[in-house]
Amino acid sequence: MPKVELHLHLEGAAPPKFIAGLAREKNIDLSKIFDRDGNYAYQGFAAFLQTYEAACTPLTSPEDFYRLTLAVLEETAKHGVVYAETFVSPDFCGGGDVGAWREYLDAMSRAASEAERDMGITLKGIVTAIRHFGPEQAKTAAKCAAETNGDFIVGFGMAGAEMEGRPKDFAYSFDMAREAGLPLTCHAGEWGGPDMVADTIRDLGVNRIGHGINAVADQNLLAEIVEKGIVLEVCPGSNVVLGAVSDWASHPIQKLRDAGVAVTVSTDDPPFFHTTMTYEYEMLAKTFGWDESDFAEIHQTALAAAYCNDATRAKIAKKLEPAK
Ligand SMILES: [Zn+2]
Repeated sequence: MPKVELHLHLEGAAPPKFIAGLAREKNIDLSKIFDRDGNYAYQGFAAFLQTYEAACTPLTSPEDFYRLTLAVLEETAKHGVVYAETFVSPDFCGGGDVGAWREYLDAMSRAASEAERDMGITLKGIVTAIRHFGPEQAKTAAKCAAETNGDFIVGFGMAGAEMEGRPKDFAYSFDMAREAGLPLTCHAGEWGGPDMVADTIRDLGVNRIGHGINAVADQNLLAEIVEKGIVLEVCPGSNVVLGAVSDWASHPIQKLRDAGVAVTVSTDDPPFFHTTMTYEYEMLAKTFGWDESDFAEIHQTALAAAYCNDATRAKIAKKLEPAK
């Protein structure tokens, strides 16, 4: 099935082999972040973030990001994804300098164009502030986003350690991105409770939420999410592996759908969570009995919530039509 994926961190999707190879080229010793089979190794969310940041250390030039983007898209396209949005961070691409950021962006969008031509997958970028780097650093990410809103960059968001600070601490950055015309998403309700989701909606004015699963505990909040048409970027496999939920059967994705919430399905940081879009679909079918019509609904929700322009949306809609 052709698929749409809205929640994918570019560095987090880096195939371990690619990172290991790049580290070797640059004489960086990353042996401690890999297990014996060459997969990323860590235990728990804090260690995950550390491993993630260590895996990013060999990625130091626009050329590295060009190769990274191609490596990620090759993997993503293998699983039938025809349209993806990826989180990209100026913090990892030139340290927040707008001039440097443009060079990295150029490299990533060049790779995206080549992948579109050769693999039939369209990629757009969402500039992402890293929450645990603090509100001041988030402003530089927002400035990079505002300056480069265009064909490749289509949105602004925030990832990182959710429990650092409150959403309102980052309102300035989200306001700046909004004023530049960018739609907004933010990770919330993965670790935080319904209050974090409610504050994110109120203080940051987002129309999508990364994860958002803990909203399920508050009926009033669910009603608000439905009424405002806010879309959740749900990543079940990620939630299971990091322990945000105890197992697939207790994942609230079906409860959220039953409450009328618009949900989509993504892999988040696939090699870190030993997942792929194929695996997510298999598990959703197995756990909740989802069939083709359920997945078709998920695709339509995702495409409607995508931050691309309408010409791109129409092009992707054609690819999602069932084969006759
Ligand atoms: Zn994420």
